[in-house]
Amino acid sequence: MTRIILVVFEQRDGVIRQSSIDVWNRAQALKQQGDISVVGIVPGPAGSADEFRKITGDGDILHVDEQGLELCQPQAYADVIAAAAREHSATVLMLADTAFGADLAPRLSARLRASLISHCRSLSFEGDHLLCETAWYAGTVSALLTCEHGTAVLTLAGGRCSASGHDRPRLVPTTLERPEPSGWNPVVEKLVSASSSTQDVAEADIVIAGGRGLGGPEGFGMLESLAGLVGGSVGASRSVVDEGWRPHAEQVGQTGKTIAPSLYVACGISGAVQHLAGIAAAQTVVAINSDPEAPIFRAADAGIVGDVFDVLPKLEGLLREK
Ligand code: FAD
Repeated sequence: MTRIILVVFEQRDGVIRQSSIDVWNRAQALKQQGDISVVGIVPGPAGSADEFRKITGDGDILHVDEQGLELCQPQAYADVIAAAAREHSATVLMLADTAFGADLAPRLSARLRASLISHCRSLSFEGDHLLCETAWYAGTVSALLTCEHGTAVLTLAGGRCSASGHDRPRLVPTTLERPEPSGWNPVVEKLVSASSSTQDVAEADIVIAGGRGLGGPEGFGMLESLAGLVGGSVGASRSVVDEGWRPHAEQVGQTGKTIAPSLYVACGISGAVQHLAGIAAAQTVVAINSDPEAPIFRAADAGIVGDVFDVLPKLEGLLREK
């Protein structure tokens, strides 16, 4: 029997988020494990056709743009996505492990009476069983969960992945049967990103992050300059967010964002387990810290023991010479 995976795309102001494209690509990769087909759904007014050109792989992408969806109403999104899951008999729903995914996944699980597995790092099919590796206790415990019956709703933690081939999915403008739009919460205010970085830290390929070792908000000027030079984003530890030095949108870790950049540079960050939980999927970690015993060095591929105020200007100078 063909298993149907429904991938939920997240978009903001008409731009489809890279984290959702990564989830789609991971679903495409699962096709090698058996008789699996992948359907996507983009709820809301996702911009131009160019947006959809970013997506490769096989399958249909349902574009549902109805009343309520333009306001990021989670209830409306959940109604529409649950309706699509029923219509396509989806047995697995996959969402990115973002605030949007964390909000929607339990709603979908309740509507569909489906199992919910959050923060999946990897997944595979073994016969009829879905196996998910997920992180517990800030990443200190790795659990392997199996879903033997019914539908499963999953949120997937970061992981860059490219779809093989150059096929383009078919874009299908869709209307779905769903309940009357009553009981939704009124929209009080539309939030705008509080981050000064141009790119969301969860989507950036290079992240230059700072901790309390930067001494104050002014220290982050060096990080912004370096991030601008290499086309990256600024990240922050929780301590500096709690201090009000940086916005919460930049926080990396257990109670911040889970990120998967190809390069993560930790500047003046001690490397607490809750911070490391957010960077487990980073490909290369570089740490700059004045304390040679700082735990961050145990998680780093390369480390510089030194004062960030000496090291960062030198590093930027070298990069500018290139
Ligand atoms: P510190 O631990 O104070 O470390 C500062 C580091 O800077 C030190 O290693 C020091 O050697 C170094 N340093 C100082 N001066 C310099 C200098 N001039 N040059 C170079 N290095 C220097 N934390 C997160 O980050 N993200 C989370 O999501 C998160 N969630 C949490 C959830 C819970 C439930 C709890 C209990 C905690 C959570 N924390 C989280 C907090 C976490 O435990 C740490 O307290 C926090 O990460 C420490 O931040 P820091 O490394 O910036 O500060």
